[in-house]
This record gives sequence, structure tokens and C-alpha cells, in this order.
Amino acid sequence: MDGKNSMNDQDVKLLERSFKRYYLSHLTEIPVPTDIAKREFGYKKFTGGMIRHMNVQDEKAMRLLLVENSPADVYCSNSYYLFPNMDMKKKDWQGADLIFDIDAKDLHLDCRYSHTCRVCGECKNVYKESSKCPQCNSIKHISSSWPCKNCINAAKKQVVKLVDILENDLGICADLIEIYFSGNEGFHVHVGKTEYNMLEPRARVALGDYIRFYNVMPETYGVRRSKIDRKKFPTEDDPGWHGRVAKKFFGKNAPRSTSNTEYVKIAEKLKNAQYTMGACIDMQVTGDIHRIFRMPGSLNSKSGLAKILCTDLAKFDPYQDACFIDCDLVKISAQCPIRFSLGGRTYGPYIKETKVEVERFAAVYMMCKGTAHAISS
Ligand SMILES: [Zn+2]
Ligand SMILES: [Zn+2]
Repeated sequence: MDGKNSMNDQDVKLLERSFKRYYLSHLTEIPVPTDIAKREFGYKKFTGGMIRHMNVQDEKAMRLLLVENSPADVYCSNSYYLFPNMDMKKKDWQGADLIFDIDAKDLHLDCRYSHTCRVCGECKNVYKESSKCPQCNSIKHISSSWPCKNCINAAKKQVVKLVDILENDLGICADLIEIYFSGNEGFHVHVGKTEYNMLEPRARVALGDYIRFYNVMPETYGVRRSKIDRKKFPTEDDPGWHGRVAKKFFGKNAPRSTSNTEYVKIAEKLKNAQYTMGACIDMQVTGDIHRIFRMPGSLNSKSGLAKILCTDLAKFDPYQDACFIDCDLVKISAQCPIRFSLGGRTYGPYIKETKVEVERFAAVYMMCKGTAHAISS
């Protein structure tokens, strides 16, 4: 169920106006995708519906799209096409940048429960810690998550692992790797034009499995059920996963015996290493060459925060660095059970519906998460 479709007119008006103000005041800072004319564009409105298969000829046309349509989300393909505005079959695919999505929601962190609430699909009541709406008993709801510092730091760790593999295993030059905050719960990693651009979806999936350290067989690392020959084990100097596996599992503690039990033990260790050593990337994104992907510099309608380039990942704080909506005061009615910090200030919780006047960026953040509504001033 898409909650955006059921947004009331006043909410839509306030959000559209706020997003438009951002696009107007930051227009020249929004980066222009390389080979813009070869990419497919699309956008969503706050009133619902997705428009795609658009082509955008140049910078001017892109800027026009942003200010004229008041989009809630803007997307651009990582693929290049001869005819980006035609049907998928007629587009004539010319290659696609490698693209990776890392999302805190996929990391199954313990903190998640504490900062997730539900917005009732029937009566819009906001509640926590209940399987159905306490106000109308409906089970229809949208989950609304408010990622915390722990979520962002955990996602950053995945980015670091991914970038290490891209540079050291795949030989991709650091200059071609761009790390973006997604605008909500994670990071997008874009790789510019490389020899990998022509990879078919199946090869992209295989590459993704390599990055995740997924489905690894002990045999790859010289471990067999019957004969364990220590000479076949990888060494720490080996490139890629062989070296990593050697460092982690095959030091002094490498098995000496030749039992099936040892094999099973190592198989288990390698399987678990998927979560500790592999980078947790969304395979739907990596394997799909016909997807359109959130455009750098655009706002994310799940938060009102911008998808922006992180030049210093360690220091990057999305709640300061990606918050660009202005700080004019706006009147809203908030029912937001979660306390959050944004733009250097702390808000909430607002347990019962509360009329408050807050900075526009905070109003937008709560509205995007379904926990506040516009009221006429
Ligand atoms: Zn309800
Ligand atoms: Zn968290």
C-alpha cells in the first residue's frame, strides 16, 4: 500500500512547495549525470504514480524537470541507451554503470525495533508496540523507520567493505567510485565507466555474490571432505578473498586432521563470514540493468533529505549534512512517538496529536514519515 496516495491536499501542497524551494535554491549545485542524454529518467509525484521512460537532453532540461514538476522523487538510469525514451525493448542498451545499494534495514540491527512505528492505513493513527491499530483495529499499516546513528554507522561499515573489494579485488580506481547517502537509510555506491559496464545481469549477480562472499564452497579454499592438504590452503598474501580467508581462518589454527567434521566446521565458518566479512548489498539493484535509480542531488520523499555525495564517509552525518530544506517555521499537527535530531535540533516525541510550529525541514521529515500533517496557518 502506498501511503503517499492517501495524503491529503494540504500535505501535498506543503511538501511540493518545500521540495520546490529546495530545487530552486540549490539548482546549480545539483550534479548533472554524465552522458545525460543517453539515460532514462523518471519521477514520482506526491499524489502518486510513476512517470518513466523520459529522456532529458541536457542540463537545462534536467533543471526544468526539477522545478516544473514538483517531483517527490527523481530517478535516472545507470544504463546508457541510444533511445532512452522508447519502450524497454527498443531502447538499445549501451552498457550500465555498476551500482550498489546498502540499506540499514537489510542489516537486521537490534536498534531497529526501537525506532520503528506504524502508520495506520485506515485512520492514519500512529502507533508502536501493537500488532493492530489501537484506534480502529485495522492491521493495514505502513512501517515508518527513523534510522539512528547506530544504523548509519553499520551501513557505513558495509560501504567500507564494498569499496575495499571494488578497489583491491576488482581493480577499480578510487577516483571512479562515488559514495552517496541515499537520503534515507543507507548509501548508494556508483562506479563510473569501467570495463564492467558491459556486464550482463547474470554476470552482475555473480559479481554481487562475490562481493557478499555468498554461497562459498570450502573446496574453493583447498578444503575437501576427505583429504585436507595444507599446501592447498590460501596464504595471507593471496589476492582477494583467498588472502582474507587465510588471514581470518587459516593461520596457526588451520585444521591438521582430515576429518569430515573439520570440513563441516570450515563450511559453517565460511557461511557465517558472509555476514561479517562480505558487504551486504541489495542484489535486486546490482543485478538489474533496467532500473531507474535515485538521482544524486535529488530529495528523498521518505525523509526530505537529499541524496548527496559523501566526500568524508567517516565524518558524514546525514542529519546535518543532508538536511537542506529551509528553516522557516511551519505549523503542523504531529503525532510522532519517536524523538529525533535533525539540523542540530531535537524534536518530539509528540504522543497525542499536537499542534506545533517547527522548522520546515523537521515538518517535512515528520510528514514524509506519515507522522505529521499540515494545518492551515
Ligand atoms: Zn487506525
Ligand atoms: Zn538504529
